Amino acid sequence: CFSLVKVHNRLYAYFLIAVGIYYLLHLKQRSHEYFSGRFLILISACLVPAAAGLHDLFRFPPLANFDLTPAAFGVTSVLLGAFFAYWHQDIVPLARGVVLESMNDAVLVINAHQRIVDLNPIASRLIGRSDRELLGLRLADAWPEVARLVAEQASGHPSSAVLRLNGETPETRAYDLRVSPIRARDGAVLGQVVVLRDISERVRAEERLRHEALHDALTGLPNRNLLMDRLEHALQRARRHPEYGFAVLFMDLDRFKVVNDSLGHSVGDELLVQVARRLRDCLRQVDTVARLGGDEFVVVLDQIAHPHEAVQAAERIREALSAPFRVSGHEVYTSVSIGIALADSTYARSEDLLRNADIAMYRAKALGRDRCVVFDTAMHARAMALWHLENDLRQALERQQFRLYYQPVVRLQDGVITGFEALLRWEHPVRGLLQPAEFLPLAEETGLVVPLGNWALKQACGQMSEWTRQRPALKDLTISVNLSRQQLLQPDLVPLVKTTLEETGLEPHRLHLEVTEQVMLEDAFPARQAIQDLRALGIAVHIDDFGIGYSSLSVFHRFPVDVIKIDRTFIQRMDGGQQEREIVRTMLALAQALRIPVIAEGIETGEQLEVLQTLDCPYGQGLLFQVPSPPEHLEPWLLNAGETLHAMGWPAHPSHPGAQRDSSPRRV
Ligand code: C2E
Ligand code: CA
Ligand code: CA
Repeated sequence: CFSLVKVHNRLYAYFLIAVGIYYLLHLKQRSHEYFSGRFLILISACLVPAAAGLHDLFRFPPLANFDLTPAAFGVTSVLLGAFFAYWHQDIVPLARGVVLESMNDAVLVINAHQRIVDLNPIASRLIGRSDRELLGLRLADAWPEVARLVAEQASGHPSSAVLRLNGETPETRAYDLRVSPIRARDGAVLGQVVVLRDISERVRAEERLRHEALHDALTGLPNRNLLMDRLEHALQRARRHPEYGFAVLFMDLDRFKVVNDSLGHSVGDELLVQVARRLRDCLRQVDTVARLGGDEFVVVLDQIAHPHEAVQAAERIREALSAPFRVSGHEVYTSVSIGIALADSTYARSEDLLRNADIAMYRAKALGRDRCVVFDTAMHARAMALWHLENDLRQALERQQFRLYYQPVVRLQDGVITGFEALLRWEHPVRGLLQPAEFLPLAEETGLVVPLGNWALKQACGQMSEWTRQRPALKDLTISVNLSRQQLLQPDLVPLVKTTLEETGLEPHRLHLEVTEQVMLEDAFPARQAIQDLRALGIAVHIDDFGIGYSSLSVFHRFPVDVIKIDRTFIQRMDGGQQEREIVRTMLALAQALRIPVIAEGIETGEQLEVLQTLDCPYGQGLLFQVPSPPEHLEPWLLNAGETLHAMGWPAHPSHPGAQRDSSPRRV
């Protein structure tokens, strides 16, 4: 009976040892490889005495008569000694705990059954319950939104997700959520570690950058990028739902440049900010107001059932902007030109819609500004024609399609030709001979007028030199060349004119440059300076089209010039009666008082010539004498006209008092 008890005790001891070994093996499997040395030692330390005990029971040969217990003690003590060499590893679990507690990220550990088995203080603060309440709870009960994201990630969706929480703090905070599986060394998933990192600062910075990329810095309105995006969405919606309509309003402030130039850029900027505010205030929440840059704004009117609603909105905008603005102590008035394009599903691209609204806006400007115009297809055709013309114009210079025609300037008392004015023509391969009115405005708009005008200058100077070379008697003739405003304002104009004169061998006093009265009215300092510099070179400056700009003759005190050309409308109106003649007489008298010679433009009839002669107008130009003609028409006459150069039409008009008074031809 005693030995039976003894056997039972032994079996029980072996059972306990087996449990211990199994548990140690289990732990070894789940812990880091780094710790496996300790487990092996412990397992060996258990196995050695157990083996010695078993030997004692069964007396295995050949050591049947040996008691192995002392040897087992020895081996076990050595093993335990080695085991204690790993003492220092004991702080690792504690250290991991400290790391977890002190982290700024919220960390949750859940087991395979989705129950919370560990969490750090940040995590419990975010959930709003103590860790004691939370441990053992299912994540889905403790924190449903995180449980949902964890489940999504487990099903292989994103590797990280952003969670927004209205926590303790009043503002929303954003968290980056990452889930990492806890795996045994055989790969089995034992649970998950959920880490929530506070990325609010980064998200805010990103949002700010995104906002900046899509908004105008000055007014805070959506910029072109955002506008195009909204337009694209609206178009897509219109394609899906044909009953949905919307409209695009393209607007441009009238005379904004004047405000900017006269009151300064900061006043201009402030005006734009106030305009933006008024636009926002007079539109509905669903409408988009964007700034494209400069003084260009675009409105997308959402859900427009009928075109007249768009026009009404445009009128409302014009009304809102018509009241004066108070900007830095100034009272500023502005008006606006608005082009309206109504969207329909035929538009393939949002850019086309914007472009058509832009075309309509241009039309509103052309019709006199301060109005709104709805786009129609005729406008598009016109815009296309202009576009073709612009393309042609760009190539015409290279292809040498421009020509200069020349019209004589005549001394009215005796008909002697004193010079020629060069006038530009375009020999268009398809459309035939084009007059400046048909292409100069576009050349001005595109800036092509500068190279074009510079070409004309060189060509005219060269022509006059050439004529003089062929016939030295022409050495006193002058050549007048028209100078556009942009040409006058080009910074290197004076050196350019100088080189042109040198290259063509023309003396400066034979070159006359004509600038319009408009340039003087603007009273821009650079223009005045350029005129002064040109005159200093010995070149004569003419004021062209004088009278139509209503400038008074007093401007010539500030703007000294050499010749005034009275615009042809005044000459032609002289036929109307005494009053009209009086105007011309006054102009001539004042010019005389200022000792500035005058050229009367556009003399078409003998009567006009007679009146001008009685008024003592010194010079004139016009169809009566000669239509502007290409050099090859003028040359036979010009180079063979003996010693004299009378205007071609002159002797044919015996009624001219000049012709009667002085029948003997003058020498040039
Ligand atoms: P503008 O300088 O006033 O030139 C005079 C215009 O009156 C010319 O028109 C000429 O053909 C026209 N004309 C001459 N005699 C008569 C007449 O008896 N009756 C009428 N009704 N018209 C007459 P055109 O050649 O069509 O030139 C128009 C304008 O184009 C010019 O007006 C000038 O401002 C501009 N232009 C011409 N050539 C050039 C150029 O090379 N450069 C620049 N920048 N502008 C030019
Ligand atoms: Ca002229
Ligand atoms: Ca003129």
